[in-house]
Amino acid sequence: MSDPTPSQSTTPGPRSQAAFAEARTVLPGGVSSPVRAFRAVGGQPPVIARGEGPYLIDVDGRRYIDYVCAYGPLILGHAPPGVVAAITDAAAGGTAYGAPTERETELGRRIARAVPSIERVRFVSSGTEATMTAIRLARGITGRAKLLKFAGCYHGHSDGLLAKAGSGVATLALPDTAGVPAAYAAETIVAPFNDLGAVRAAAERHAGDLAAIIVEPVAANMGVVPPAPGFLAGLREVASDIGALLIFDEVISGFRVAHGGAQQLYGVTPDLTCLGKVIGGGMPVGAVGGPAALMDQLAPEGPVYQAGTLSGNPLAMAAGIATLDALAAPGVYASLEARAARLALGLRTAAAEAGLPYAVSRVGSILTGFFRPDPPSDYDQAAACDRDAFGRFFHAALAGGVNVAPSPFEAMFVSLAHDDDAIDRTIEVARAGFAAAARG
Ligand SMILES: *Cc1c(COP(=O)(O)O)cnc(C)c1O
Repeated sequence: MSDPTPSQSTTPGPRSQAAFAEARTVLPGGVSSPVRAFRAVGGQPPVIARGEGPYLIDVDGRRYIDYVCAYGPLILGHAPPGVVAAITDAAAGGTAYGAPTERETELGRRIARAVPSIERVRFVSSGTEATMTAIRLARGITGRAKLLKFAGCYHGHSDGLLAKAGSGVATLALPDTAGVPAAYAAETIVAPFNDLGAVRAAAERHAGDLAAIIVEPVAANMGVVPPAPGFLAGLREVASDIGALLIFDEVISGFRVAHGGAQQLYGVTPDLTCLGKVIGGGMPVGAVGGPAALMDQLAPEGPVYQAGTLSGNPLAMAAGIATLDALAAPGVYASLEARAARLALGLRTAAAEAGLPYAVSRVGSILTGFFRPDPPSDYDQAAACDRDAFGRFFHAALAGGVNVAPSPFEAMFVSLAHDDDAIDRTIEVARAGFAAAARG
């Protein structure tokens, strides 16, 4: 990908520039997570001071309508008063105990009530830990080593999971990063998303060795790519046939695409579910859930070890409880749906007016506009988009006060704080963005 030239990039304000220069002297790339450094779009990120409803405000006082929403957790928007109060109240009672609390049970109960396949929950502190734990559990239960994942699906940054496809039908994966021994990645088999034929072929080849199939039931890390009709049900069938566990990584889709997640929306029941993001209300939380018979294989009930000093942290549990309580109110998901549909329609229309090939994929309140003629159904198709056009759009949007993720392969996250005014203003700004993208 060619980086856009600096003249096409927005220039952050002077305070942001100074703060980011200072950050680079102490943090690799000036960031704590790589995508934040803007390498895919060129230029420099604004440095953020605070968030408020649908807005981010940078250290120069510039205000952006925010569709990153911390990459998914902030389904109520920034600093919702109920969540802030819950965290403040919890903090006043101490920030960690290393002992059981009632709040863990309360959040666990809410999750078990909402998500069809979940009876028991183990809390961790990130989505990465949730998938690591689910996979260890699957390996411990089945006594098998191999894992089938899908190209373009992200399951956190642990060693065996940073692998995507070679070409063709399911291939043995090579690590996507330095620092992962090839032997780890060799336990990961990669198939194209939405390709049941490839899954069946891989299952046949590795039947006795496959511990689990792990999938984002709504892919959202190659941009939003919904499952094709029958794909998830097919995975369920293949996994059951060969005695492998089906793991839904619902770190994004959980409590997002429906109250009960993608498994409720599509009516397919996984064995294990990974959660994160929304369930922590913006605090560091992840979780693995499933039926008691599987979950009780975790220590101390069972032989599969897993632990965490800050797991079930009281501030994080309080934020999660307050968030899930807000999401349990009637009409919440219909409201999210309506907001996101308004945004999707406005973006489509504005892109068409600019004469740009542009396809919006949306499931509930997550959506991606791909700079290509039709919506992709797998990673190879998603990757075949016009990244330079995205870069021009991105910078024009940011200059106009709209913050989308600095990569063509991320979702836009719509929150309950994005009202019609914010969305209509976004569509106005996007019109200028598409014009910039079309200029080439
Ligand atoms: C974000 C994400 C993860 C990793 O979660 P972290 O909290 O960043 O470790 C795992 N799976 C999916 C689907 C995600 O989107």
